[in-house]
Amino acid sequence: MNPLPPIELQAPDLSRWAGGNCGVPYVWSFDSGRPGPQVMVQALTHGNEICGAIVLDRLLADQAQWQVPRGRLTLAFGNLEAYARWDPADPDRSRYVDEDFNRVWADEALCGPRDSAELRRARVLRPFVDAADLLLDLHSMREPCEALMVCGADGRGGDKGVALSRQLGVPGVLLVDTGHPSGLRMIERGAFADPRDARTAVLIECGQHWERAAADVAQDTLLRFLAHAGALDDGYLRPRLQAQTQAQTPPAPRQRLLRVTEAVVAHSPGFRFARPFRGLQVLPRAGELIATDGTLRFHAPHDDTVLVMPSVTPPKVGATMVRLGRYEA
Ligand SMILES: [Zn+2]
Repeated sequence: MNPLPPIELQAPDLSRWAGGNCGVPYVWSFDSGRPGPQVMVQALTHGNEICGAIVLDRLLADQAQWQVPRGRLTLAFGNLEAYARWDPADPDRSRYVDEDFNRVWADEALCGPRDSAELRRARVLRPFVDAADLLLDLHSMREPCEALMVCGADGRGGDKGVALSRQLGVPGVLLVDTGHPSGLRMIERGAFADPRDARTAVLIECGQHWERAAADVAQDTLLRFLAHAGALDDGYLRPRLQAQTQAQTPPAPRQRLLRVTEAVVAHSPGFRFARPFRGLQVLPRAGELIATDGTLRFHAPHDDTVLVMPSVTPPKVGATMVRLGRYEA
């Protein structure tokens, strides 16, 4: 495991939101009483990704200052049981309790006989996810890396996520991937993965988990998303969006589409990267050795192979260790 990056963010005390306002702990749902989209934002899918908790905590604290003009807005904290373990001295421990909360969203898992802390929470949140027309899932990354939007899987909703992200104007990197063999993510659930259905979900990776800038990215993306969705009134959003635009130097980057061509999955606990790699590192030459796993060798499949979120956690059989992709013109 790489050394711990510095912890610049402070995990907020969320206990005042525990009761929720719709019968589900840590879920706050605001119905305008008028027709319109069902919009959902989730933080803390992973309990150690605190930038999302910071911005939803702030938005809920402001609730006397805003209104939902149409439709319904739902703000949810995901894996609270994991977040409760947050310890700045051992921050990886609070990622999840029993299993990755972002791999349990297939019906086979949710409706199956298996039990875990994450499945119990997902089963309670499922009606909100299934009702959402537009969904934003707030995440961050273990290693320092430019912010990127996980737009969805290729042929399974990824293009809808790209179109939505282009309307938001951020972030600079729009990722279309192949999903994870170990389980379905929330943004791939049901209608979100149907290219013919307008319902769209995206996942923002705001930067390194605990860097100050990650909370700024989360805030910027959240407000742009809520404005795009028409989920909050202009009087609240406009001055905050203007202040954000003025504070951004340099301005929002040109958006580039990064398409994942394959996922590299650990076949044994002996999986090793050939050398340390950074997130979004580009390997200029095809054939460069990326990793070994027993007698297996993984090489860059083409020139300008981009390494997407190389894992720093100890390899587990079946876990995605890195995804390989290329930028599209
Ligand atoms: Zn995450």
